[in-house]
Amino acid sequence: MFDSKLYKLGVIGNPIKHSRSPEIHRLFAIEEGLHVEYDRYYAEESEFETCVQRFFHNGGTGLNITLPFKSKALALAHELSARAQLVGAVNTLKFADGQIFGDTTDGQGLVSDLERLGWADSLGKNILLIGAGGAMRSVLPDLLGFNPQTLTLLNRTESKAIDLIKEVEAWREQLGFTTKLSAGALDSSIDSQPDIIISGASQFQALPGCKDLASAYCYDLNYGSRADQYLSWAQALGAKPENCSDGLGMLVGQAAVSFGIWTEKKPDIGVVMSLLKDSNPWLEDWWQPPFHLVDVSQINDAVVTRLHEKEEQFQQRMQDIEAGKVPLTWDSFVRCYEELNDQLSRVWSVLSHLNSVRSNEELREAYNRLQLELSEHYTKEMQNPLFKSLIEKLTATRAAERFSDAQKKWCANKLLDFKLSGADLVLSDQEEFAALEKDLAQLSTQFSDAVLDATEAWFLDISDLELKGMPVSSIDAAREEYRKAHDSKDEHMCRLTLKAPSYLAVMRFCANREVREQVYEAYATRASDKGPQAGRFDTTQFIEAILVKRSKQSSLLGYSNFAEYSLATKMADTPQQVIDFLANLAKLSKPQAERERQELESFAKNELGFSSLEAWDYAYIGEKLKEKQFDLDSEKVREYFPTTQVLDGLFEVIHKLFGVSCEIDRSVPTYHEDAQFVNLKNEGEIVGGLYIDLYARDRKRGGAWMDECRQRHITREGTVLPPIAYLVCNSSPATESMPSLMTHDEVVTLFHEAGHCLHHLLSNVDVAELSGIQGVEWDAVEVPSQLMEGWCYRPEVIPMLSKHYSTGQALPQEDLDKIIDAKNFQSALGMMKQLEYALFDMSLHQSKCNQESDAPNFISVLDKVRDDVGVLPVPSWHRFPNAFSHIFAGGYAAGYYGYKWAEVYAADVFSEFKRAGVFNLTLGQSLKDEWLSQGGVRATKDNFTAFMGRELQLKSLLEDVGIQD
Ligand SMILES: [Zn+2]
Repeated sequence: MFDSKLYKLGVIGNPIKHSRSPEIHRLFAIEEGLHVEYDRYYAEESEFETCVQRFFHNGGTGLNITLPFKSKALALAHELSARAQLVGAVNTLKFADGQIFGDTTDGQGLVSDLERLGWADSLGKNILLIGAGGAMRSVLPDLLGFNPQTLTLLNRTESKAIDLIKEVEAWREQLGFTTKLSAGALDSSIDSQPDIIISGASQFQALPGCKDLASAYCYDLNYGSRADQYLSWAQALGAKPENCSDGLGMLVGQAAVSFGIWTEKKPDIGVVMSLLKDSNPWLEDWWQPPFHLVDVSQINDAVVTRLHEKEEQFQQRMQDIEAGKVPLTWDSFVRCYEELNDQLSRVWSVLSHLNSVRSNEELREAYNRLQLELSEHYTKEMQNPLFKSLIEKLTATRAAERFSDAQKKWCANKLLDFKLSGADLVLSDQEEFAALEKDLAQLSTQFSDAVLDATEAWFLDISDLELKGMPVSSIDAAREEYRKAHDSKDEHMCRLTLKAPSYLAVMRFCANREVREQVYEAYATRASDKGPQAGRFDTTQFIEAILVKRSKQSSLLGYSNFAEYSLATKMADTPQQVIDFLANLAKLSKPQAERERQELESFAKNELGFSSLEAWDYAYIGEKLKEKQFDLDSEKVREYFPTTQVLDGLFEVIHKLFGVSCEIDRSVPTYHEDAQFVNLKNEGEIVGGLYIDLYARDRKRGGAWMDECRQRHITREGTVLPPIAYLVCNSSPATESMPSLMTHDEVVTLFHEAGHCLHHLLSNVDVAELSGIQGVEWDAVEVPSQLMEGWCYRPEVIPMLSKHYSTGQALPQEDLDKIIDAKNFQSALGMMKQLEYALFDMSLHQSKCNQESDAPNFISVLDKVRDDVGVLPVPSWHRFPNAFSHIFAGGYAAGYYGYKWAEVYAADVFSEFKRAGVFNLTLGQSLKDEWLSQGGVRATKDNFTAFMGRELQLKSLLEDVGIQD
């Protein structure tokens, strides 16, 4: 459908937020079937030149220039059009063959719009212009090209009008016009009755010299509400409404000329005008987001509109029900709520997704602002007594006796949410609860900001000679970091940072022990009172305040500690049950973990010549041992996992397991050329949609994740709208010589996220807030994802996922075996580390501390946990909790154990597939029916029993990860 060439275009200005250019150019691109990226760029006065150079340097083809840079742009161009030279300004730059060409297209845009309106004849007659600013100046050469009889320019400051007309006089010979020119102040008398009046004034003032405009055309170079004043004045003097127009068409017209300069195409402005005048496409009815029309200000407006609609309409509906004007039923009340929620969440999810995958200043600003508004909205909703009382009344109606399980569960969940947000408390306690909630939100932001700052503030500039052992790609990345920081072309200097890829590469591969020590110390003491940045970003006070406030909130609700409160919505029943679960796993794993440690230590001593080991040696030695035991060259193995093959294999696995086919649909527009849309079909019927976006790129958040785009949803008319999900990874993109290839770890990650997506997409639940992963207990959400990982290590499956990218040959058996064998390398040590984190989290949140002075000393809590489950030595200055964002700034407080908890379930379920065959369709069908399709309606425990027909067994996990007693 698209020409494959990508045109990178944009508009630069200050301010730039409200420019409609991106929207217009994307419509042109669709009309012409071109692949275009067009974004807004904000620049400070001083950085304009650098911004433009950088844009072109990074592959940009063309830029529009708006205020205040039009004359600066002139100076930047190597070559100028005659128009641009005359008016002394540039609104369009094109980069080709190393040269920048500048032009101004405003005049042609105006003329093309006047032609579209059928007014062009008037340009040969009497023209009256209002305003002598840059906008008016830039259209003058094209107006004079029509050789009008008279041209009168009026301006609030008369001298400016006179000066401009004097300049125009000088163009007479070059442009060949014979027009009578005149200039004056706004109150000048007007000699000839104007045939057309064009205003370019930013603030319009009436012209006393004009009496009757019945036969004149009236045009404003401004558009939208900024043209209102002038156009209503004209109509008051008799101008016909059909003879009055704002400058939107000129905006589109000048854009079309720019577009033509860059792409040599001539888009039809009429088509685009009618699309633009239509309402906001994001407010229309769509199933898949209209990603080809991405315009941040429109999406922003759509979120705001939907939010207000929801607030007003739902409140109104509740009042009508309360007043007896509308009967209280599921449809009148809950479905109305769900419908409004769907309208809001589908536009919000688009904005939030775009901010993660192709962020820019504008998106981030809109995202941050709206996120705050939405969170206030939901907090307020959970404090609305009418909402709560209507749910209570609904559950007491006779109809409620016949409610489906999903309907009953919805009511129960909402009432629990009300309780947990303090709605059942007496007013004064409610207020205290809300204040604590607000403080906690702020504290967690302060915590994560401090961790982020601490992570970014530290670096080590070092020669690559000191980095022996590290993979070439990591060294290249470190060199690039140095280059960026110093603007230097030094071949050897590198910058190490505390960001995960840099940190992990050093710890695992860097042969230089001193370098490892330095990086380890900086990382382990981030945001604390120790280490190289001691005290600079210390989060201790935030942690203490968070613990105290969480404890206070729990007390208000009648729980004895925060851990109990946190478990109210989870699978696990009591904190003790969790502690026992973790302690038991630790007891079973510790002997093997000790053996693994000894193995590392003797290997280090005997084969690497270490006399003693420090904390910063273990990961490095682990890699060396792994290399020796498995001799697995991950770069070589990668050649057998081309991304397209892996994806085909994943689709095949899904089909074999669940009978659901995945078909890429290239006709669906996406937000980036890397992203693809996939239809999930069951017996030919679309049951879900999936955007897959696999490659790392600029302006995309790192890591891998799944997100919801839309919930499965029944409309008021009773139609089922299938759910849609996003699956995002960050694998290396293709290069000129090689297609995109995945490491086996990346394959596992892809399957993990696919498991989350399937949970969302295979839902059969009609109530949105319980559909897919919605309403699933927090400690059970990772079951389907961890389960899917199992397929990546099966000898039946790996051949489906792999083939050499150039020879097409199968992965050698030897390598296949090594992948499977290496899976459980040092798994007990890994297990103990996770258990340590989980036990620390749970123990910490079991303390009751309602006074600042009672805040537990979290370091001694950690030390105590380590006494029991620690296996590898840790220096006393280690300050891991100070950067433990999962529990202090994420959603994992008294919930970190959920990873292991879910893993036990996943491994036990997978044991059933190992027994019956990993492609056993009956089993797959049953997994879908009894688990994945159930959403949050049925408790996970019950899903498990229904699927397995027995109690949970811990031993499946131990077997799966190869831990033996
Ligand atoms: Zn996950």
